[in-house]
Amino acid sequence: MRKDGRANNMIRPIKITKNYLKYPEGSALIELGETKVICSVTVEDKVPPFLKGHGTGWITAEYSMLPRANEVRKVRDSVKGKIDGRSHEIQRLIGRALRSAVDLKKIGERTLWIDCDVIQADGGTRVASIIGAFVAVYLSLAKLTLKESPIKDFVAAISVGMVDAVPMIDLNYDEDSKAEVDMNFVITGKGEFVEIQGTGESRSFTQDEFEKMKNLAIKGVEKIIELQKKVLGSSE
Ligand code: UDP
Repeated sequence: MRKDGRANNMIRPIKITKNYLKYPEGSALIELGETKVICSVTVEDKVPPFLKGHGTGWITAEYSMLPRANEVRKVRDSVKGKIDGRSHEIQRLIGRALRSAVDLKKIGERTLWIDCDVIQADGGTRVASIIGAFVAVYLSLAKLTLKESPIKDFVAAISVGMVDAVPMIDLNYDEDSKAEVDMNFVITGKGEFVEIQGTGESRSFTQDEFEKMKNLAIKGVEKIIELQKKVLGSSE
């Protein structure tokens, strides 16, 4: 049993509030347990110079944390004058995840700017960002009058890890901070992998442990994608 009473294969409760903000073309607030992220999508009618004239669109992401998203106040990047390496890594991961779900040719010469802002962090902010960003992207694309749907497939993500030699899914901060192995899986609706980030933090891990963590992630993402479908299908 985990501190919060979850079984090792249980994800924290997920709540997605779509159209959370008034101005963006698509937005969602995602709550993954105590982790909360606001995802918003802006559709711009132009593409970066390297894509100009190619008839294809682009999707890019930015990720940030509010100072008091954490237990201890974190200095804003804007005050430090630079984005930290972790934010860079996470925003590139979010961008790649969402580009895998969308046929960029079908959105024409447009850029989708995804903004993921963590308002409260308790582990899994990058996977929560990907889950929420997919919903926000989907909503923004539904507003465009396109001939064909550019959505190739759903995409979601979840963390897994080895904590006290036990494989478990969806680590909160407490678990993440003592995990021997920490992984993040980005998986499509078809069950195909988009990205796997895996680190032996305090020790290496066996192929058997990898299999167990992978299987937890596959089952977890299946459930999350069911929820995304339910949220996007409802009229609320
Ligand atoms: N964290 C923090 N301050 C930071 C970075 C991380 O408090 O500057 C906490 C936060 O709860 C975060 C967790 O550590 O969710 C795990 O961070 P990690 O870099 O593994 O990314 P995440 O699990 O959020 O995707």
